[in-house]
Amino acid sequence: SEHHFSDFDKLEVLGHGNGGIVYKVCHRITAAIYALKVLNAGDPQSRRHAAREVEILRRAADHPSVVRCHGVLPAPSGDVAVLLELMDFGSLDSLQLRRQAQPIPEPALSAIARQALLGLSYLHSLQIAHRDIKPSNLLINAAGEVKIADFGVGKIVRRALDKCVSYVGTCAYMSPERFNPAAQGGAGYDGYAGDIWGLGLTIMELGMGRFPLLPQGERPDWAALMWAICFGETPAIPDSVEASPELRDFVSQCLQKDAAKRWTVAQLLDHPFVSGKDRASPELAVRELLVDLDCDSP
Ligand code: ADP
Ligand code: MG
Repeated sequence: SEHHFSDFDKLEVLGHGNGGIVYKVCHRITAAIYALKVLNAGDPQSRRHAAREVEILRRAADHPSVVRCHGVLPAPSGDVAVLLELMDFGSLDSLQLRRQAQPIPEPALSAIARQALLGLSYLHSLQIAHRDIKPSNLLINAAGEVKIADFGVGKIVRRALDKCVSYVGTCAYMSPERFNPAAQGGAGYDGYAGDIWGLGLTIMELGMGRFPLLPQGERPDWAALMWAICFGETPAIPDSVEASPELRDFVSQCLQKDAAKRWTVAQLLDHPFVSGKDRASPELAVRELLVDLDCDSP
């Protein structure tokens, strides 16, 4: 690309995690604003991770529900920087924080689910499993668009035999078959069903205003959480939480414990929770949510 790392001014830090630091940046010549994710590539392992993330970003470059990559730039000390479309309302987990954990109303929740499914449908059709679907990796903008970000642990599923048996991702959102591939006949899994699990848990969390698989206000007990995911009942929205039958069913189809029974993206796109007639403009429903947010904030 014709962009150079030194042409960008860092305005603020948007986030950081395992993958690297994400800055809001301004291109000094055009004044265009972007997000710039600087991936550590200092050692062979991080170099491999960075290369995979870049490869997936390049392949999955053209869908309205996937964060767009505008270029890959060499950065100082051998690091790699990816220039991304800026999602100015940040991630769904920061939205939850700003809403002080109020549950997200169903019209917006349905719009979020629909856009995430469209993004996943695109990725799965390119044989890419995201493998880390959770609120902090779904981003929103002022137009009310929801986009999938962060291919840090994504996987290109090249062949049917190339099953993912590696142990990556955030364990809180990992599907039962990720913890225990042997239980699925030792064949591992292709990762697509795991993306559906992550989406189901995300929608359930946003609809309840809290992460559903851990008791509220207590320190997370990771061993108990893993036990519950693998051997507990299928997670369901408790009766005490207000939710339509459509939302309850959508979540339960995403959270089928047996990956083979879990619904696919194509099936879920036809589910009444996301496919209703009044779902013509998913962006509008999300935008209403952001307007409320502006009014509520001091
Ligand atoms: P990590 O691998 O560290 O989790 P992410 O790509 O998820 O990296 O980015 C970390 C955080 O930075 C996200 O949760 C989000 O808050 C913010 N972020 C990432 N990309 C963008 C973007 N394009 N626009 C706005 N914020 C972003
Ligand atoms: Mg992330």
